[in-house]
Amino acid sequence: MFCETNVVVRLEEGLHARPAAQVAKLAKSYAASVEIAKGARVANAKSTVQLMLLTVKEGEAIVIRANGDDAETAVDGLAALVAGAALAPAPAMPAATPPSRAAGVPADGGLRGVAASAGVALGPAFVYLPTHPEPPLFTVAPEAVEAEIAAYRDAVGQVAALLQAAIDRLDPAAPTLRSEREVLIAMQDLARDIELAKTVEQAIRGGQNAAHAVLAVGEHLAGELAATDDAYLRARAEDMRGVARRLADTLLGVAEAHLHEIAEPSVLIAADLSALDFARLPSDRLLGLVTTGGSASSHVAIIARSLGIPAVVGVAAEAETLRGARRAAIDGGAGVVHLDPDEATERAFRDRIAAAEAARRRLAAYAGIEPRTRSGKLIEVAANIGGPQDLPAALANGARGVGLFRTEFLFMRGRAVPDELTQAAIYAEVLRACAPHPVVIRTADIGGDKPLPGLGIEREDNPFLGWRGIRLCLDRHDIFKPQLRALLRAAVAGPLRIMFPMVADAGEVHAARALLRAVAAELRAEGMEAGTPQVGIMVETPAAALCAAELAPHVDFFSIGTNDLTQYVMAADRTNPRLAHLLRADHPAVLRAIAMTCEAAAAAGIPVAVCGEAAGDPALIPTLVRLGVSELSMSAPRIPEAKQRVTELD
Ligand code: PEP
Ligand code: MG
Repeated sequence: MFCETNVVVRLEEGLHARPAAQVAKLAKSYAASVEIAKGARVANAKSTVQLMLLTVKEGEAIVIRANGDDAETAVDGLAALVAGAALAPAPAMPAATPPSRAAGVPADGGLRGVAASAGVALGPAFVYLPTHPEPPLFTVAPEAVEAEIAAYRDAVGQVAALLQAAIDRLDPAAPTLRSEREVLIAMQDLARDIELAKTVEQAIRGGQNAAHAVLAVGEHLAGELAATDDAYLRARAEDMRGVARRLADTLLGVAEAHLHEIAEPSVLIAADLSALDFARLPSDRLLGLVTTGGSASSHVAIIARSLGIPAVVGVAAEAETLRGARRAAIDGGAGVVHLDPDEATERAFRDRIAAAEAARRRLAAYAGIEPRTRSGKLIEVAANIGGPQDLPAALANGARGVGLFRTEFLFMRGRAVPDELTQAAIYAEVLRACAPHPVVIRTADIGGDKPLPGLGIEREDNPFLGWRGIRLCLDRHDIFKPQLRALLRAAVAGPLRIMFPMVADAGEVHAARALLRAVAAELRAEGMEAGTPQVGIMVETPAAALCAAELAPHVDFFSIGTNDLTQYVMAADRTNPRLAHLLRADHPAVLRAIAMTCEAAAAAGIPVAVCGEAAGDPALIPTLVRLGVSELSMSAPRIPEAKQRVTELD
């Protein structure tokens, strides 16, 4: 029996990701073969990937066709779903045990690295060092084809079950894990996608071995996703590659641990983690962090500090040494890592953890105080956050507002850049939570070591000297304008300060302010309320520090980003552990740049904050205050000690 109907898609997200997965799931529940067509393009409705590649948006017309005994029921059911009926919950899968890790216990390491986030940690090691061997291409003999297909299907089952186990371990009540859950469900759906299976099995029947075939097909589908005109789908290309790689690894017997499989509180050992990896890490299960890459001001270190997780980065160790570790003890303040510590070291670390906890409880008394120097000068102490999920810790530690909201971290946590309304709601939530204290929201600082997939941002040879921050936003109004509109809409909820990153030239300030004015006029013309926030800039390029006197009259405040300012003044890549000795915010060259900025600000009568990592360094606080800094913004766990330090100043 054949049945066909025309229907207009009424799903807000079109046939993207979650709806596509739900349509495919429903289609698979019918025996009939089902197709969805948009114009001349046709997709098998049982394949999420094919549905996504149709790029159907809300309001577009599609044709649903089915062929088989239950064709009519299938067409009716699917038509009702795409016309806006409630989406079904994700399918459940049986749980599976996580992969075992290599045995072998190396002697006590006592490895040295860069002290990235203070504190001591001790616990099981979770080693994340993917090797990804290249599968050889060989010809599968005709009599071995069915066995190779069976091996492929078995790998799909194993990967789907592992992902399900990771989903089951998530606490459904934890709101910050929502995006992690979505990522896992989407990956599971891709792994089981019938288009992927069909094409891979065709390749196997053509004589290709399964591991090689799945990588080739995955790459092809990823390429198709990357070529769409939709940012969300382009970002899914990365998921497709990850799933294909995972299937190939399983076929090759490579039982690599995956980040989302961290089941118990552990010390994570990795080569490096991108800010994107970190945004998707189950941070509630991280006791500590060890990486072979990175430096004290790389983003992995910044996030570790904001989460209060001890971290040692830039550890010079062979992958094989790290791979065998069962347990790890780390001293994030000294930059020391012990792999498989002996009993005496374990005991010493347990004692130190208890002492650190006692010190933390003592310092907690400072969380609630007003940070004034002995002479009565108020030095504001605020928090650096990456999203509303960081607010509870910030407020509990005594943050007097937010001195830096890194909105690009918000963008990285989600599956795509949030739309204007979503952003406005998040910004307003932060403003309300911090009132009456101000909130400094920095417009997206994308680029550098914070790439964002799916936005069509090309790889650059020198990303830190490249198209990032305000430079990128001024060229990409599709990203910048919705954010500015969201900020102005949220500004009615509390004292907002908008901050532009990576400013190097007054022209950029004029252009950004002009766009902000245009956006405000646009909102009012649309009958919407738009707030009147203060507008400031980060001083983090040598150009901004050298021209601070020219910039100051055009802004309401300066905030010094000592992480980038140090890297640019010292010409030392902030992610390179070999240059740790040069990456010092207390170097005379950096201090002179800070002094120049403060002098220019004083002459223009505007305040200066520091929101780079130097702001939370108790040893540097006296110098910064002496130079004229009146606000310090830092990761939440550092706030009580910073307040204590301020009260001790003359
Ligand atoms: C800085 O550069 O000091 C800063 C605060 O910005 P980010 O670390 O996000 O580059
Ligand atoms: Mg910066």
